[in-house]
Amino acid sequence: ASPGKKRYNIALLPGDGIGPEVISVAKNVLQKAGSLEGLEFDFQEMPVGGAALDLVGVPMPEETFTAAKQSDAILLGAIGGYKWDKNEKHLRPEMALFYLRRDLKVFANLRPATVLPQLVDASTLKKEVAEGVDMMIVRELTGGIYFGEPRGIKINENGEEVGISTEIYAAHEIDRIARVAFETARKRRGKLCSVDKANVLDASILWRKRVTALASEYPDVELSHMYVDNAAMQLIRDPKQFDTIVTNNIFGDILSDEASMITGSIGMLPSASLGESGPGLFEPIHGSAPDIAGQDKANPLATILSAAMLLKYGLGEEKAAKRIEDAVVDALNKGFRTGDIYSPGNKLVGCKEMGEEVLKSVESKV
Ligand code: ATP
Ligand code: MG
Repeated sequence: ASPGKKRYNIALLPGDGIGPEVISVAKNVLQKAGSLEGLEFDFQEMPVGGAALDLVGVPMPEETFTAAKQSDAILLGAIGGYKWDKNEKHLRPEMALFYLRRDLKVFANLRPATVLPQLVDASTLKKEVAEGVDMMIVRELTGGIYFGEPRGIKINENGEEVGISTEIYAAHEIDRIARVAFETARKRRGKLCSVDKANVLDASILWRKRVTALASEYPDVELSHMYVDNAAMQLIRDPKQFDTIVTNNIFGDILSDEASMITGSIGMLPSASLGESGPGLFEPIHGSAPDIAGQDKANPLATILSAAMLLKYGLGEEKAAKRIEDAVVDALNKGFRTGDIYSPGNKLVGCKEMGEEVLKSVESKV
């Protein structure tokens, strides 16, 4: 250990499919960007998902969970693949992610949707609409209609089957996600739009009341409210109007997928999941992409940008994060593209080479 360096423990969970390829690249970028800002990382690499099933017979081994829980932040690749698709439920690779999110109590899911100027043509929207889009969706992840009781398929008094789901939000659950969102907006352009359905749903009425009450603590953030049906439309009509969006579990699920299509390239999109205390979980939004695994074709930028979110939102190391973000833009400016974002006139590269180019760009901006 060198004196004067800040040290962090990072749990690396490569997982399955393209996971190991993109994690190996992102690890090098994270290490380099950190060291230029006086940070030192102790990486602990552990099996998870299908890789863990093959190795020890469970998707989330105790040792992996302990390493993750004791770390300062977790960087995850991807989980799943055809090989384990017929496993019974508790032996599916995806259960690892479920256990991890549940036990780390990561209630805040942050998903940026950014259209980089170099990749405007990849957007599903017209150039004029897509250009300059740069938003962050903050989704509540551990409450709401996905978990509320009563739930299930029951028999009513007429002997007929009824499907029941219940949306419940306690004041403290709304307050803590709203705080994450206000803080996030503060680190960005200072605009927060809270999305609900307060004209119909009672949980939304409380949501709007609590978010509005908190606004006085964040006078530098401009708060607005929008109904979810309108928000779904506005995302397509004029996505540039949004900076930070905060919303509940189900609306966030839908809107963040909608927003990801605006950017057009799944290989570019990172995410963060944060709890009240303890490590955050950082991962690309794409899956294990078994169709291209092991071929050095994967785009590592989503995972590299997840490492940048790890620095910014997980460790509060904004300068090192900025180094990574700038390096990604620099590599794109130089024309390097993996297959998923390739257009004629650019330089087609594989996963490793893209990683090396980003690494060079990180180093060149000392
Ligand atoms: P999940 O694991 O969430 O079920 P999925 O199977 O729905 O994921 P992905 O694994 O993300 O979807 O793959 C969807 C498509 O996108 C595939 O054709 C895959 O090759 C491609 N893809 C995903 N991630 C990347 C990446 N990082 N680089 C290039 N292509 C990718
Ligand atoms: Mg899949």
